[in-house]
Amino acid sequence: MTENLIEVSDLVKQFPVKGGVLQRQVATVDAVDGVNLQIRRGEAVGLVGESGCGKTTLGRMLVRLLEPTSGTITFDGADITHLKQKRLKPFRRRVQIIFQDPYSSLDPRTQVGESISEGLKLHGVGNRKERRERVNSMLELVGLDSNAANRYPHEFSGGQRQRIGLARALILGPDFVVADEPVSALDVSVQAQVLNLLKELQKELNLTLLFIAHNLAVVEHISDRVAVMYLGRVVEITDRETLYRNPTHPYTQALLSAIPIPDPDRPRNREILQGDVPSPINPPPGCHFHPRCSIAEAGVCDIDVPALLPVGDNPDHLAACHVRTGSHQHLDRPAVRPR
Ligand code: SF4
Repeated sequence: MTENLIEVSDLVKQFPVKGGVLQRQVATVDAVDGVNLQIRRGEAVGLVGESGCGKTTLGRMLVRLLEPTSGTITFDGADITHLKQKRLKPFRRRVQIIFQDPYSSLDPRTQVGESISEGLKLHGVGNRKERRERVNSMLELVGLDSNAANRYPHEFSGGQRQRIGLARALILGPDFVVADEPVSALDVSVQAQVLNLLKELQKELNLTLLFIAHNLAVVEHISDRVAVMYLGRVVEITDRETLYRNPTHPYTQALLSAIPIPDPDRPRNREILQGDVPSPINPPPGCHFHPRCSIAEAGVCDIDVPALLPVGDNPDHLAACHVRTGSHQHLDRPAVRPR
């Protein structure tokens, strides 16, 4: 048995952009642009970045809701990158996704118990009575009364609906769960409850988890490691303590400095990101972040794509930054001028 449950190598997802009267392809969006990632068994990895950075596309490829354009995805030692429907069935039982908006993922005309047991039926698990019992114990596990099974989605609050979403995702006993912004649509007051529940369940059921969010504050609580994405690429990845104590990539630093600290006496260096995320249809060359980076080196950052390299002597802390990893010193072309 390998240590990593998920291994992603050079993963790319391109979407065609169509235009004109004939709806011909006029451009390509590189939503995910050569991502490498390993997730260990039982590990929770947070995946963070602004809207449009490709994190949801990456999550959906990992559970094979989207077909990768190139690269490989290995799950439990088996290459599942291009498995076809029939051969995907056993894999589907072992991986699940939790969506941002639980309401739209539940059929409003179907009782909650039926929705939760759908996966069991699909995979031929148990008879009617056994499925009912399993649904009831799953509802209990996520903190809902078993009477909830006979009610309809509109009778629940947003937080309760996300608990139903959790029950639905966990009913088949998956090994790997992608939680795609599971608390973003919830009131702040219930976000913490759902996060705590997810963390408890992850530990109790030994789940391997990819937790996607656009806010570093949300993933801190739940993640063992955190990966930061920018315009389709992972720009920094390391364990939680290192990332929050010693963020290295300028983009990670800017994201962290945007988190409010509830202590007016605690000094902080706020780094305000300039401009918007560039269009993924026509991303900046070299380091995609260079137009917004305060330490970019002209002649290097706008030409060469930075590789994900160790920061200092920590092999588990990787960043894609010429300046911070010193990779610009090894290019055969020196920097023109610092900005
Ligand atoms: Fe900034 Fe250059 Fe590092 Fe990119 S590679 S983050 S532009 S310093």
